[in-house]
Amino acid sequence: MGKVDLAIRNGRPVTGAGVGEPADIGIEGERVACIGIVPAARDEIDARGKLVLPGCIDAHVHLSYPLADEGEPGWVDDFTSGSAAALAGGVTTVGNICFPLPGETPLQTLEREEAQAREMAVADYLLHPVLSRPTPEVLADIPTLARYGCRSIKLFTVFPWFDQEVRGILEAVHLAGASGLLTLVHCEDRPLIAFATAQLVAEGKTGLQYYPVSRPVVSEVVATQRVVALAEVAGAPVHVVHLSSRRALEVCRDARRRGVPVHVETRPMYLHFTEDRFSGPDPGRFVGQPPLRTASDLDALWEGIAQGDIDTVATDHAPWLLADKIDPAHTIEAVRPGVADLETLLPVLYSEGVRSGRISLERLVQVLSTNAARLLGLFPRKGTIRVGSDADLVVFDPECSRVVDGACMHSRADYSVYDGWEVTGWPDVTVRRGAVVYRDGQVMGRPGTGRRAAAVQKG
Ligand SMILES: [Zn+2]
Repeated sequence: MGKVDLAIRNGRPVTGAGVGEPADIGIEGERVACIGIVPAARDEIDARGKLVLPGCIDAHVHLSYPLADEGEPGWVDDFTSGSAAALAGGVTTVGNICFPLPGETPLQTLEREEAQAREMAVADYLLHPVLSRPTPEVLADIPTLARYGCRSIKLFTVFPWFDQEVRGILEAVHLAGASGLLTLVHCEDRPLIAFATAQLVAEGKTGLQYYPVSRPVVSEVVATQRVVALAEVAGAPVHVVHLSSRRALEVCRDARRRGVPVHVETRPMYLHFTEDRFSGPDPGRFVGQPPLRTASDLDALWEGIAQGDIDTVATDHAPWLLADKIDPAHTIEAVRPGVADLETLLPVLYSEGVRSGRISLERLVQVLSTNAARLLGLFPRKGTIRVGSDADLVVFDPECSRVVDGACMHSRADYSVYDGWEVTGWPDVTVRRGAVVYRDGQVMGRPGTGRRAAAVQKG
């Protein structure tokens, strides 16, 4: 046997199916070439005492924001800085939400964002075009998206036109399913939020301590029920993103029991923080939509991961500068939602989930990689470690402890919600399609080397 390009020696491989004994992994070009007996390599990585994980797939991030108002602060990462944060955190594929410019059809949105990502990304990427009002032009684009290798569209139930367009939306979800696309849905009910907010405003209760009351759990529950109904009637799969509450999870669990194709994502914030943060210092730091919930919700989400009711954990990485996040002028009616989390997703979930005994290592890999690969048509090219798969690998040091300081990390966001937390378990090396893109604290990949993760052809 000749030399291989890269060998990772003596690490314990972890897949969604189990934890292996220490083994060598050989990489040729972009793919895993051999596991077990691996010849000498041009580049060797000693992974003794380390875990080797499939690269994480964070299917929900914001690395572009074409709608930012002139002069207003916006999300601060692009495909290059977002890739750096991703790769340093063991994420090798990101799924970017692509908002349409006024008048754009989904295909035009996809092509515009693809041009940007192709030039700037280092991580591999998926693009999720956001569905605008379901006009005949927009609907006509949906089957074409699939032909371009796109695997998903994104829908927001909080859009102002949602309630007037349910019939057209049903058509869109049906067309998406028939074309092999997954519909990702942000589930919160706009009228309920508007009413709850107006009542608080009338009482003068506009401070962020009232933020959870302004977007009550029931607004998530009713929107989730409605989206389950869309999936059920359209006969098409939906993926509820950033699910935050016990009651909304129960809605999805019930739907799944009845065979409705409903998949569930939660985001790390809901696993690590509760709503009392909005009564503490700098509540703006923790603002997302939906808001943080109670300890009972937090427990339900951990159980949901452990039991398999939650398919994926994705960050909804939406990075801001701290000064813009904690603007004292903010009220329940004026907030900047979203937090940066790409670099901390895996380490914090490992530290708080696996080390604390809440979830197994296999489950960690399932919710951070394998399940997203399956849902988005990438498995087994991505989402696992096997001969012939993309060499997207993370050499992970389960004993490395570090105190989080968002100001020194790779996202341009200058803070982290975990600032000051001691987190144990960090990536040592990240390999994306055979290229070492992160090592010794340095991101090395060149912008433009990331590629759109294309769906695996079904034979
Ligand atoms: Zn989002």
